[in-house]
Amino acid sequence: MLDMDGTVLDLAYDNYMWRQHVPRLYAAQNGLEPEAARDALFAKFKSMQGSLDWYCLDHWSNELGLDIAKLHRDENHRIGYLPGAEKFLQTVRELDIRVILVTNSHGDTLTIKDEVTGVTEYFDEVYTSHRFGHAKESQDFWHALAKEEDFDPKTTLFVDDTARVLRSAEDYGVSMLLQVTHPDTTSDPRKDSEFAGVTGVRDLL
Ligand SMILES: [Mg+2]
Repeated sequence: MLDMDGTVLDLAYDNYMWRQHVPRLYAAQNGLEPEAARDALFAKFKSMQGSLDWYCLDHWSNELGLDIAKLHRDENHRIGYLPGAEKFLQTVRELDIRVILVTNSHGDTLTIKDEVTGVTEYFDEVYTSHRFGHAKESQDFWHALAKEEDFDPKTTLFVDDTARVLRSAEDYGVSMLLQVTHPDTTSDPRKDSEFAGVTGVRDLL
């Protein structure tokens, strides 16, 4: 089980969109200083963190009065794999290992990212939290996933870059957990991880 953003795809794109591009346009639209717009937006983001709406483009389009999906598409040249991640997926694809994508990504962003990278081609199945109505941070997500995907938590490896998601998987009983410590190539790698860490999935080869 692999997460998408920050695990196989470079989180630099998402961080650029949410930390720079969207705040800049929000400031311009509302006649705010860039700093004030960022502060206001980051407070909004923080209050929603980990909820399904936090990952929902429709929610943010309504909340901010911007066409968030269009903004993502306009910047799609910034979408890309993490170093060695596509090679990893190609390798796993050729082995007798079932590999599934388990993502909090909204359907629109998944589509946009898939158009650029073809990432879903490498997976036997793709599950989004929006399909279940619960983010991976919630136990409800894992129970809903287990109804559709027959997996043994004792023999399933789950790789994600977000500690609170890994904690949720751990609570559900997934015993093999790995945390990606360099999810964004434009930032420094994290020095430590709460779970066993790999710089990127390429290390697993
Ligand atoms: Mg992630």
